[in-house]
Amino acid sequence: ELPLIAVCGRPNVGKSTLFNRLTGSRRSIVGDEPGITRDRIYGEIEWAGRDARIVDTGGVIPDDEALIPSEIFRQAQVALEEADSIVMVVDGRTELASPDRELARLLLRGGKPVFLAVNKMDTQELLAGAENFRRLGFRNVLPISAEHGSGIGDLLDEVFASL
Ligand code: GDP
Ligand code: MG
Repeated sequence: ELPLIAVCGRPNVGKSTLFNRLTGSRRSIVGDEPGITRDRIYGEIEWAGRDARIVDTGGVIPDDEALIPSEIFRQAQVALEEADSIVMVVDGRTELASPDRELARLLLRGGKPVFLAVNKMDTQELLAGAENFRRLGFRNVLPISAEHGSGIGDLLDEVFASL
């Protein structure tokens, strides 16, 4: 069985953009098996000659804003149970929000390798903003632009080294 990488984070930070960039067309929505919910989208990824599975934990976002934080944490719990390595994504163009801090705390306590991808760092000028997110306590903080592709290779090098 291939190792599994989970992508976690609040809505709109760019989880699906990252997932789609990493998987290309090799993705699938897993169906009705008991214990596997439709809101998790699985795909496959190859890097430096190695294969892994990857899951986008944010497939379905509840309409009710009040449910969003609990849904993110539920997804993170599942990620901690099933994944071998976890990438938390934040939007580097926004302020640190309290759900980010709580999610980080949960993931950092989980005993799995965890990486922080500070997304939407599309230009050099924006890179400085990534430093702010070091306060979340991750040892591995990687600025990326899921849309433009920058930083993705470094992220994958580190994540695959943890598998
Ligand atoms: P998700 O809810 O976490 O899955 O986020 P999405 O992948 O759906 O992205 C949310 C929004 O952020 C979309 O409008 C994306 O186009 C945008 N986005 C994602 N990655 C980047 C990025 O690297 N740079 C910029 N500028 N926008 C991005
Ligand atoms: Mg999404």
